[in-house]
Amino acid sequence: AKSKCRGSLQFFAEEMNEQLLIRKQLKGDLRRAIPEGQLELEFQPQVDLTTGKVIGVECLLRWSHPTKGRVPPDQFIHLAEESGLIIPIGDWVICQACAQANDWPELKFAVNVCPIQFRQGNIVETVRNALEAEGVSPNRLEIEITEGILLQNTEETIAILTELKAMGVRIAMDDFGTGYSSLNYLRRFDFDKIKIDQSFIAGLGRSTESDCIIQAVIDLGASLGMTSNAEGVETLAQARKLKQQGCKEVQGYFFGRPMPSTSIQELLVDHDWMMLAAD
Ligand code: C2E
Ligand code: CA
Ligand code: CA
Ligand code: CA
Repeated sequence: AKSKCRGSLQFFAEEMNEQLLIRKQLKGDLRRAIPEGQLELEFQPQVDLTTGKVIGVECLLRWSHPTKGRVPPDQFIHLAEESGLIIPIGDWVICQACAQANDWPELKFAVNVCPIQFRQGNIVETVRNALEAEGVSPNRLEIEITEGILLQNTEETIAILTELKAMGVRIAMDDFGTGYSSLNYLRRFDFDKIKIDQSFIAGLGRSTESDCIIQAVIDLGASLGMTSNAEGVETLAQARKLKQQGCKEVQGYFFGRPMPSTSIQELLVDHDWMMLAAD
């Protein structure tokens, strides 16, 4: 038994080393991602439940690694955060989104910004410059932040959020309900939108608890003057239920996966979801 344990421990140690090596290598590779044009944005449609129309897109980052192919954001965003590369990458995302905004003048653009970019970057300047350079109206840009953003340097962060909002940029709270102290954050800042985390939507219609929690979040948002967006909507039944519950806006695979800009163009021309508007 003794040797068996040692064996698995050694195996574990080798696994760890390998993981560390892969991470280190990926971090190095990420450094070249912007200059070598390996980053790209995809766009996921956001649909207004009252009109059945696409009213905006969430911009999601994609990395095409030269040998590993597509690396999902869940596997490289935290590496970018650790190395500080998230700041130039985050700036790049904002600039790209604003550049794209000119092609679809009727749409809003949501971008994800991580806490480090608020603390160490120059987010206000980046956003102002990007909007000005592309001639995009600030109210078409929405910044999605997660609850983690208010865990540190709260006063400073709120000052930055307030400055962005004064500029006309919208601020959305992402992944609502999954963090440590969601309700407390709503008290600290006047968000424009609450994005209900997809884990709640997955339970919609399956458990009374999920239904009640979603309803409560929608109502809470409404009473605070915040729009609600439900993420991860995969079926028409979920969309219908959310509409009944008074949810304003949805996104998810049912309406479209994140897709390259050319496909969004087609979607805008050919589709609407009037079956939702009907009932
Ligand atoms: P997120 O901001 O919560 O983005 C939503 C994620 O859910 C996306 O994954 C999207 O593809 C996925 N999704 C959308 N609809 C559905 C659905 O109906 N079902 C299911 N199962 N999933 C759905 P993605 O693109 O892999 O991004 C993962 C996370 O990486 C994002 O979560 C966000 O936190 C982060 N991320 C992506 N792009 C950026 C970026 O430009 N900057 C920063 N800081 N983070 C980013
Ligand atoms: Ca998001
Ligand atoms: Ca989310
Ligand atoms: Ca408000």
